Amino acid sequence: MTTSAAANAPLGSLYVVATPIGNLDDISARALNVLRSVSLIAAEDTRHSARLMQHFGIPTPLAACHEHNERDQGGRFLARLLAGDDVALISDAGTPLISDPGYHLVRQARAAGVAVVPVPGACALIAALSAAGLPSDRFIFEGFLPAKAAGRRARLEHVKEEPRTLIFYEAPHRILECLQDMQAVFGDERPALLARELTKTFETLKGMPLAELAAWVAADSNQQRGECVVLVAGWQAPEGEEAVSSEAMRVLDLLLAEMPLKRASALAAEITGVRKNLLYQVALERQKDV
Ligand code: SAM
Repeated sequence: MTTSAAANAPLGSLYVVATPIGNLDDISARALNVLRSVSLIAAEDTRHSARLMQHFGIPTPLAACHEHNERDQGGRFLARLLAGDDVALISDAGTPLISDPGYHLVRQARAAGVAVVPVPGACALIAALSAAGLPSDRFIFEGFLPAKAAGRRARLEHVKEEPRTLIFYEAPHRILECLQDMQAVFGDERPALLARELTKTFETLKGMPLAELAAWVAADSNQQRGECVVLVAGWQAPEGEEAVSSEAMRVLDLLLAEMPLKRASALAAEITGVRKNLLYQVALERQKDV
């Protein structure tokens, strides 16, 4: 090919291909077709992925693209894409870039005008959420929490009043301390679910309030093995009297003893900064109880 012909050659595409998170039947027909047809597969761990390719009889060459070489080696994959070769990006399991390498390569490819094509499939957090029975219309994915207790607790404090369902990845050797810290920060009663070994032989989904879940995992070392996702229900704002601090209640009660309900709640709102409507409702409840 002459230089000008090469310059005019179409660019290759970067396919971001999800692979199974356990059950090999979860690979899609499209993923197999793409992995067979590309010139090169950029893989997080080439030895790990070689076994997957062997299982499906895919002879496409593999090259390492992991978190330590991704920035430096990105140029190598980019050169292939710019030369017109299609490249697939895979990680050890599930969807690349989701707590896995690939971000830098995808960014570089997009910046260079290369088409980046998602080939969707398994993803542990989505699989867990789809079966958890916790609100799924809005959720946040926190990935892995810090390994050290202080950092982990600080992160949990940060999301303590997050109203959307919370999703975390956790290593099995830290699952118990993670659940115990969640219990300490989010409270005993917050609904939670542990999704362990999804799509595998010992798949377990256990949903309970955090205190019970932590105790259940503490009592059974089998639950401290394998891969896990933890889901926690989002924070629910307390209602009625629970939402009003004891100091605001004290002010309201003092004023109620001296003046009509409407005036007392308006004045208490001015003094405490609590919403007038909320104090009015609480005052009504208080008077009913008398
Ligand atoms: N890219 C993957 C995905 O799409 O889910 C995640 C990779 S991340 C390095 C690995 C973590 O994902 C595990 O530590 C665990 O928290 C979660 N995970 C992966 N496979 C899982 C499975 N079969 N069951 C439960 N959790 C899993």
